[in-house]
Amino acid sequence: MVQQVTPKPGVQRIAPYVGGAAPEKGQEGVVKLSSNENPFGPSEAAKTAYRHAGRDLHRYPDTSHRALREAIAEVHGIDAGRIVCGAGSGEMLALVCQAFAGQGDEVLLTEHGFAMYPIYANAAGAKPIVVPERERTVDVDAILARAGKRTKLVFVANPANPTGTMIGGNEIGRLAAGLPKGCLLVLDGAYAEYAEGYDGGAALVERSENVVMTRTFSKIHGLGGLRVGWMYGPARVVDAVNRIRGPFNLSDVQQAVAEAAIRDAAHAVRSREENARLRAWMAEALAELGLPSDTSTANFVLVRFPSEGAARACLAFLKEEGILVRHVANYGLPHALRITVGDEASCRRVVHEIGRFQEAQAA
Ligand SMILES: *Cc1c(COP(=O)(O)O)cnc(C)c1O
Repeated sequence: MVQQVTPKPGVQRIAPYVGGAAPEKGQEGVVKLSSNENPFGPSEAAKTAYRHAGRDLHRYPDTSHRALREAIAEVHGIDAGRIVCGAGSGEMLALVCQAFAGQGDEVLLTEHGFAMYPIYANAAGAKPIVVPERERTVDVDAILARAGKRTKLVFVANPANPTGTMIGGNEIGRLAAGLPKGCLLVLDGAYAEYAEGYDGGAALVERSENVVMTRTFSKIHGLGGLRVGWMYGPARVVDAVNRIRGPFNLSDVQQAVAEAAIRDAAHAVRSREENARLRAWMAEALAELGLPSDTSTANFVLVRFPSEGAARACLAFLKEEGILVRHVANYGLPHALRITVGDEASCRRVVHEIGRFQEAQAA
């Protein structure tokens, strides 16, 4: 008899992640507003670094990521010794799960939280627990009420995806202080740079024993295709993650390009300012079309339709016009579409087409 190989129970519970829609092969002129990418792409400095990189592909890369960590530390005013880098912030989130949560443990995430969190929890063998939000916003009291002895990790993206909402520094501090001992708060700062004046939780990490911050090069730095992210945390967490991460999890090419990107502060500032301007314009224009959204602090707007049917119809209408946005039914938001803030032409086009859709609906 042939013995079947069987994955761990948690692995079998995973529903694979579905990414944002992408243009089909050969399809031209498509406006892609489905994956929260920076419409300006990476900085010129990063592109130059990429062209010069890759001279020593026969050599293994620097396993300590020293130059990249030092650049991040300089730019953010934090301690390079407590930074760990990896293949996107996704790798950091997975490693934190692997190191701190397993069989019999709970990992808390929130009602409309990022779809990768339950995947990381299940892969580590832990149980993902969904905590309700209030009006599409993380509810600190609900998390504190649910957290218990078995809770090892709490995932909060701030700003959150796909809602775009955010909770204030006092609320995050209250959450960190109120969690049971032995429970780690993971602040996912994928969109932190888009929120004016927000440090992603860096200062809270400095004064806490139980807070980790993750960041990425995929969003404001325009390098989703490069796959680089990092985390900042207490020495004990950093030590644990460094024990289990692959020693060569980032190539020298990734490290060099990311270093150039983070040192180009002007590109990030310009990206943030353009995003804020166009985000405000888009949200207001959509509101005038009768489609409300919560105030977004990220690089997308979550626009609400009167019904799931209307949201789906608009998604299909836009697709027909060559515009890709994200339906977020799998986030418990079936009546909403998430629209990335693109460049000015893309923003105008998507609003114009949604206007045509609304007119057709009313007719
Ligand atoms: C885009 C995104 C990330 C970034 O993932 P990478 O692996 O760094 O590309 C992380 N968290 C959230 C909530 C995101 O939306």
